[in-house]
Amino acid sequence: MAGARRPGRNFLFVPGPTNVPERILRAMHVPMEDHRSPDFPKLTLPLYEGMKKSSRPRTGQVFIFPSSGTGAWEATLTNTRSPGDKMLASRFGQFSHLWIDLARRHGLEVIVQEEEWGTGASPERIEEALRADKNHDIKGVMVVHNETATGVTSDIAAVRRAIDAAGHPALLYVDGVSSIASIDFRMDEWGVDLAITGSQKGLMLPAGLGIACVSEKAMAQTKDATCRRAYFDFADHMRTNPGGYFPYTPALPLLYGLRESLAVLSEEGLENVFARHRYLANGTRAAVKAWGLELCAKDPKWYSDTVSAIMVPEGFNGADVIDRAYRRYNLALGAGLSQMAGKLFRIGHLGDLNELMLLGAIAGAEMSMRDVGIEVEPGSGLAAAQEYFRGAQGAGEARL
Ligand code: PLP
Repeated sequence: MAGARRPGRNFLFVPGPTNVPERILRAMHVPMEDHRSPDFPKLTLPLYEGMKKSSRPRTGQVFIFPSSGTGAWEATLTNTRSPGDKMLASRFGQFSHLWIDLARRHGLEVIVQEEEWGTGASPERIEEALRADKNHDIKGVMVVHNETATGVTSDIAAVRRAIDAAGHPALLYVDGVSSIASIDFRMDEWGVDLAITGSQKGLMLPAGLGIACVSEKAMAQTKDATCRRAYFDFADHMRTNPGGYFPYTPALPLLYGLRESLAVLSEEGLENVFARHRYLANGTRAAVKAWGLELCAKDPKWYSDTVSAIMVPEGFNGADVIDRAYRRYNLALGAGLSQMAGKLFRIGHLGDLNELMLLGAIAGAEMSMRDVGIEVEPGSGLAAAQEYFRGAQGAGEARL
């Protein structure tokens, strides 16, 4: 296509950053203001309460950092652990890998349970490892709830049951970056001690806020934790946050955006948000089936409602599909990462999204696959998703 201008919309279907709704964009368009003014807490204090509603802790603390999700990883580990502490982590994708890497760089000794990519955390293996740890040397269990790299959701409630069955006091650390505010997440009910997320996924904001929800049990461990920390020190926030202030200059427009995002989520209703994600994911999966392709997720129990990682047939490169989609159709699809590089492409179906938007991405993926020689039946995926959406008669039926 000639010319630099690309008319029409860019179709953003990477699994984060996601579309920012117009009303959130407008809410962020604010003049700067004094973040130490007496009025400032009127903006900030409700944000902590709002985040508690999205990730469901009744007690404990919420911290909002001007960072991406990775900063929240770092904050939760360094504030609760000391160098040499043992952690147990399942690795089944690029994000669980990066989290382990970050923990090791802070001097933690991570016992890694390797799981096949396309599967998730194994509660059985976790229980076995914890039972064997008679001296309770393992201080924390780290699980990525939704592995964005492979489109796999792990069962966090089952991990909690495994920890309890082993009678083990380890804290449960959960990465909810691509699940919180899109997939059901129950911090208290599942006994999650530290849950983290970033602003650019289910919260429908630009990247720039790293959010951590911390249980009282985890907060109690911060006193003895000696991992080096400065910018992310919970103690600095504890001195200022209760009054609604930050220990440094906050990312003001993002806080206004978060206020609007929480309002959007509450207007739709969290249960409806989760059902909509299930419904959109079901439509995507119907398309994948009609194409005759496989998901990276090995079994329906692992299927993610926020991202589908679609394996390309042998002899083809997923990166070519992504490249074609971007250059020719102005459609951004997610890439295969690390050991999945070239083997798949990903459709992110999270955030502010409806059926027709998603059908655009499915159509574009289908055309791009055909363009690079993958012989999917023309219109097959699109028709399957359309018929699913027509038959299901809306997100309300997604859970049936
Ligand atoms: N964890 C998961 C599951 C993710 O998907 C991502 C990013 O995509 C991260 C952690 C890292 O978050 P960030 O890129 O916001 O630092």
